[in-house]
Amino acid sequence: MSQEQNLENKNLEYYYKCFSELKVNTTEKRGDAPYKPILLLSVIELIDQGVITENRIEASNELVWTFNKYKKDFGGDKFKGPLSLPFYHLFKEKNKFWFLQFKPEYPDNPDEQRNTNERIRKSLGQLNNYVNYAYLDQELFDLLQDPILRKELAQALMDAWLHSSPQEDFDEIIRVHQNLEQIQAEEFLKKIKNNVPKRVHRDLLVRDASFSKAVTCIYDYRCAFCGLKVTQTLEKKFYTLVDAAHIKPYATFFNDNIQNGISFCKNHHWAFDKGWFCLENDYKIRVSTQIEENFPATKDFENAKLMKDFDGRQIFRPLSDQYLPDPDALSWHRQKRFQA
Ligand SMILES: [Zn+2]
Repeated sequence: MSQEQNLENKNLEYYYKCFSELKVNTTEKRGDAPYKPILLLSVIELIDQGVITENRIEASNELVWTFNKYKKDFGGDKFKGPLSLPFYHLFKEKNKFWFLQFKPEYPDNPDEQRNTNERIRKSLGQLNNYVNYAYLDQELFDLLQDPILRKELAQALMDAWLHSSPQEDFDEIIRVHQNLEQIQAEEFLKKIKNNVPKRVHRDLLVRDASFSKAVTCIYDYRCAFCGLKVTQTLEKKFYTLVDAAHIKPYATFFNDNIQNGISFCKNHHWAFDKGWFCLENDYKIRVSTQIEENFPATKDFENAKLMKDFDGRQIFRPLSDQYLPDPDALSWHRQKRFQA
């Protein structure tokens, strides 16, 4: 492959592939030990929070705290490995996107290197003795500057490693989300940094990705309005047509509780936010009388359904009724958004 082709291919899909092909340790008793995905998620979160601003990732206290937090949120007490383990091993991946900048203390001789590597991977202190910092492919670091792509890449890591079989892991996805939900962005930043960046009150990216996952998963990736489900799994990356909509907006209420969420396809998410329909407390759909809609008057479209045809129907319900939308949130939406 020529240099030029190689560069051209380093796009979002390329990194999805890198992330889904990570080699993780499976010798531990309880399945995969996803330290590498958790480290990458931690790095992405710190970029999102404005803590990592340069392509220079140090094994800092901030990173250690974040890594340990996510290790616990995703695995409970199951995962015991230190940060140094994935920090070193990512460098040895088949797909190269994580590099180490060694200190002058790092030996030149291959035999000594082997011994040193062994020490580095086992202890954070040793890692910091020999490694200055890690850095990413510049292409990947550039992609991570875009907030939407950051969330996509975090979601891809979670889909591939932390929620590997959505249907079976239903309870697990909810449990993880409830762990993640327990901390607010501001509190998170205070824990890792004395000087909280100015952008407080924003969401935590990993928790936001987990809200999307949990809400769409409990609706079986269907639109609660129209019932449509369209999904695709491509190279371990899972795509769905539905979004997790916040009923009361996150930007105002900071509420990532599953019951403040509902799964809608892109069209119906937009229509819900616009107030073109609302839900009654018994989960019946009510469509605004103020909208105009029609299909072409030809035979091909005679069975097509307008939004108003859904008026009075029940929503498609989540797989468990305990996650049905909170009536208080629905009432807020009816009063503040719905255009009766
Ligand atoms: Zn829909």
